Amino acid sequence: MRGEIGHVAVVGAGLVGCEVVEAFRSLWGAEVTLIEAAASPLPELLDPELGRVVARHLESKGVRVLLGAPVGGIRAVDDGVVVTAGGVEVAADAVVVAIGVTPQVELATAAGAALGPSRAIQVDERLATTAPHVWAAGDCVECRHAATGGPAFLPLGSLANRQGRVLGGVLAGRDERFGAVAAATAVKVFDLNVAAVGCTAARLGADGLGVRSAWLSGEDRAHYWPEAKLGLFSLVFDPATRRVLGVQGVGEEAEVAKRIDVAAQLLLRHGTIDELAAVEHAYAPPYAPALDPLAVLAMAAANQLEGVEAVSPLSDLAAATVLDLRVDEERAERPLAAGRLLEIEYRELRRRVDELPPGPLLVCCAHGTRSAEVVRFLRGRGAEARYLGGGVSWRVRALGPEG
Ligand SMILES: Cc1cc2nc3c(=O)[nH]c(=O)nc-3n(C[C@H](O)[C@H](O)[C@H](O)COP(=O)(O)OP(=O)(O)OC[C@H]3O[C@@H](n4cnc5c(N)ncnc54)[C@H](O)[C@@H]3O)c2cc1C
Repeated sequence: MRGEIGHVAVVGAGLVGCEVVEAFRSLWGAEVTLIEAAASPLPELLDPELGRVVARHLESKGVRVLLGAPVGGIRAVDDGVVVTAGGVEVAADAVVVAIGVTPQVELATAAGAALGPSRAIQVDERLATTAPHVWAAGDCVECRHAATGGPAFLPLGSLANRQGRVLGGVLAGRDERFGAVAAATAVKVFDLNVAAVGCTAARLGADGLGVRSAWLSGEDRAHYWPEAKLGLFSLVFDPATRRVLGVQGVGEEAEVAKRIDVAAQLLLRHGTIDELAAVEHAYAPPYAPALDPLAVLAMAAANQLEGVEAVSPLSDLAAATVLDLRVDEERAERPLAAGRLLEIEYRELRRRVDELPPGPLLVCCAHGTRSAEVVRFLRGRGAEARYLGGGVSWRVRALGPEG
């Protein structure tokens, strides 16, 4: 098959679209254009801070990525197809449309079963529909989301399989229940492992909830371990209740999905950022750092509620006064563009603090750790300062060196 298709257009950068892109590119050697209506890939899973990291990774693998480009039409031409998206025409040999699934509910509605708000079949915890003697399980049913407490349509094999087992027990007369779900999901996008649980900040914000986010770039193992890899994690939480409502992770390290699994158990129990900060993990340098990235992420969230505030790694720095705490080699490797740039190394800062101008400062370092500490120090002196969440390493992965 390799070489038989020259150019494929894939519509929809969801789970299936991203997997199909990799298959066409890696296995078939095809040119691929990925077209997505939202502003970043995997919008149901990831907020733009991590979605943009996935977009850049796709581009680094030679995929053309069109974002914010809703497809208006697809027409067949003599030797292929032309896809019209966001004012652009993409000519390709073939197109794959992967824009989501809708539940098949005709049989159930004909039997008198009610649908829920998501238009999937409404079931109770015993997977009984509203029609007597009719049960339902799998992709056709609505679940209860642990983060929101509300109904959700989550067509996932992990849930369908568990529902099948619960329903088997129920029909055999056992008192089994299928409770709320956290929506833990994972997907591999070339060399990136992507996983998420709960809800995105964008989704909860659109529902009118005033949630906050925290960001962390952290190594998956002890930082001096030769195979240590950077993972990027974001946490969505309710500042009023301190409840964890979502965790997202992207990294070359395979443990991203396992860390999301841990967060899922906490989310199912309505855990708080304080409980996540206290999560216990098995530590040895080849397996994890002494403080697990999940715990540090939760600590960053708690710090934010004490005034050590982070801004999004995607923030516009053009109008900011940026204090860059990195050492020369770090700056040379990843230069930073800002409206006004002050370069004072972290270890020099306390000695040179009087050189800082009055007015708000945006403090930056490689991963956000040094800058969070400096923000606390500056705030203690009455200065107005915030830091770049996830640090320059995250920003460069999301926006490139020019970002
Ligand atoms: C490409 C792809 C990749 C996926 N990867 C993952 C993943 O990595 N992780 C994950 O958690 N989930 C994944 N999923 C989702 C997962 O496959 C589904 O959630 C799961 O298969 C749902 O199981 P189900 O039995 O409810 O439905 P299905 O597996 O769709 O089975 C339903 C069956 O019912 C049959 N049927 C339909 N109507 C009738 C009828 N009227 N009479 C008789 N039979 C009928 C269908 O033909 C079908 O065989 C993926 C899905 C796709 C498409």
